[in-house]
Amino acid sequence: MKRGLLFVITAPSGCGKGTLRRALLKEQTDIRFCPSITTREPRPGEVNGIDYIFVSMSEFLKKRDKGELAEWAEVYGNYYGTPRENVERALDEGYSVMLEKDVQGSRTLRQVYPDGIFIFILPPSLDELRRRIESRGTENETEKHMRLDSARKEIADLRDFDYVIINTDVERAKDRLVAITTGEKIASGISPCQDQRRSVNGKPSVEEIGENDRLQVHPGDCGCQTSKADSVKKGKQSSGYS
Ligand code: 5GP
Repeated sequence: MKRGLLFVITAPSGCGKGTLRRALLKEQTDIRFCPSITTREPRPGEVNGIDYIFVSMSEFLKKRDKGELAEWAEVYGNYYGTPRENVERALDEGYSVMLEKDVQGSRTLRQVYPDGIFIFILPPSLDELRRRIESRGTENETEKHMRLDSARKEIADLRDFDYVIINTDVERAKDRLVAITTGEKIASGISPCQDQRRSVNGKPSVEEIGENDRLQVHPGDCGCQTSKADSVKKGKQSSGYS
């Protein structure tokens, strides 16, 4: 089985990358999100094992010292890290993987996964980012300042990223993310409809799932050809202003 692709999303805190990621994964079920482990307290609504894997400081340090993290960092006084085994297992199973990192995390991951696809999400403006962080209401004044300050620094240097998306409107930004992941899959010879490969002889098929008669349609040959890959080029930046 062909190994999946690694997508790394980076954005200043408050740019909506979690919302975007959830919207993308609803559409592209052959991409797995591998949550980071963190020592930070869960925010209201965050689910352990889905948004993050919440661990104590001693658990974190144990994993780090055993070399179980592909990278780790201290961000705003909390520790965050990427569990290597979860990423490798999903890639080996043919799934593409989505990770969410800060700038330093994505720089380290670039060394570990040079073929990864690195995407930066920008807010429409720093004023808008301030408004979003304030309306979220989950940080105190000092934390808000730290997050805005580091956003300013992160935005100053985007050279290391393959794509940039401006998140003015979630639906539009999600469409751009879908275009990027689909294009990269095609360019690598992975069917963008990998989750729908079970079609019979490339023909559409319908199967019934579960007790509630929910129907699943396999559209069959999705008509994707590797020659179309030229339409999305690595390094080409996608802005929200077209
Ligand atoms: P938050 O606490 O707002 O969820 O995340 C704070 C920052 O930590 C964000 O910039 C986020 O991208 C970053 N972050 C989350 N997980 C990881 C990780 O595994 N490694 C690194 N280096 N940064 C992470």
